[in-house]
Amino acid sequence: MTLEGTVALVTGASSGIGEATARALAAQGATVALAARRKDRLDALAAELGGFAVEADVTDREQAINAVESTVSALGRLDIVINNAGVMLLGPIVDAPVEEWDRMIALNLNGLLYVAHAALPHLLKYAQEGPRNVADLVNVSSVAGRRVGQGGGIYQLTKHGVGVFSEALRQEVTARHVRSSLVEPGATESELVTHVREAVRSNLTPSTIEILKAEDIADAIVYIVTRPRHMAVNEILIRPTEQE
Ligand code: NDP
Repeated sequence: MTLEGTVALVTGASSGIGEATARALAAQGATVALAARRKDRLDALAAELGGFAVEADVTDREQAINAVESTVSALGRLDIVINNAGVMLLGPIVDAPVEEWDRMIALNLNGLLYVAHAALPHLLKYAQEGPRNVADLVNVSSVAGRRVGQGGGIYQLTKHGVGVFSEALRQEVTARHVRSSLVEPGATESELVTHVREAVRSNLTPSTIEILKAEDIADAIVYIVTRPRHMAVNEILIRPTEQE
């Protein structure tokens, strides 16, 4: 159990990749704090994992700050943050409902930035005072943070932004033993696609390939945060084998 004595905050822990990651971190001995809006789901998972649930809409800066500060108050420290909450609202740019762009920018960029900003003072502190003497901020991007194509331009824009942020921050804090890492999943089973509006979703080509399980991405995240202090995994891109 390599994360014994650490505290990890996972955003978007009420489903999909975030939920699987919370389970995987807890299995390694971390005490987990779970943040999202659906508190009933967080409470059930927290009861199962012996963790701490905090209701937070991280697009609201005060709630993002509260997710971080209440974690530190309740659990005493903060070693690992998984900046995972995100939304993908696909569709063409022309005639798009601009409200969908606002939602993606609010969560995938602003929410991620608010959580990082609130967490960094703690990560910098506990990187010096920890069971591992290193801290981790893992930012969940996407294959869409590496590729540009039609039908998802603004989602791709936000995920490219996550990559820029993660690398700029990495350069700034790595010498102080805070590792800023980027995870770029390909198609993964979760609720993500259920939020795509019906007019767009009904036109998506049904996937015939074997896609990733949320646990596959959780495995990669566990790999990142369990490396020894001298080793930083800056970036991992994971696709289903059959995804081109
Ligand atoms: P899910 O839709 O299953 O999970 C999204 C999570 O984000 C939920 O827990 C949701 O909880 C939370 N969330 C949504 N809005 C907010 C908010 N305003 N404040 C706090 N939490 C919020 O999808 P995934 O697990 O797939 O997505 C996780 C990440 O993985 C995202 O960043 C996504 O872009 C990325 N990703 C996913 C891929 C895939 O194929 N599934 C591929 C590439 C990247 P709640 O509604 O309770 O708030």
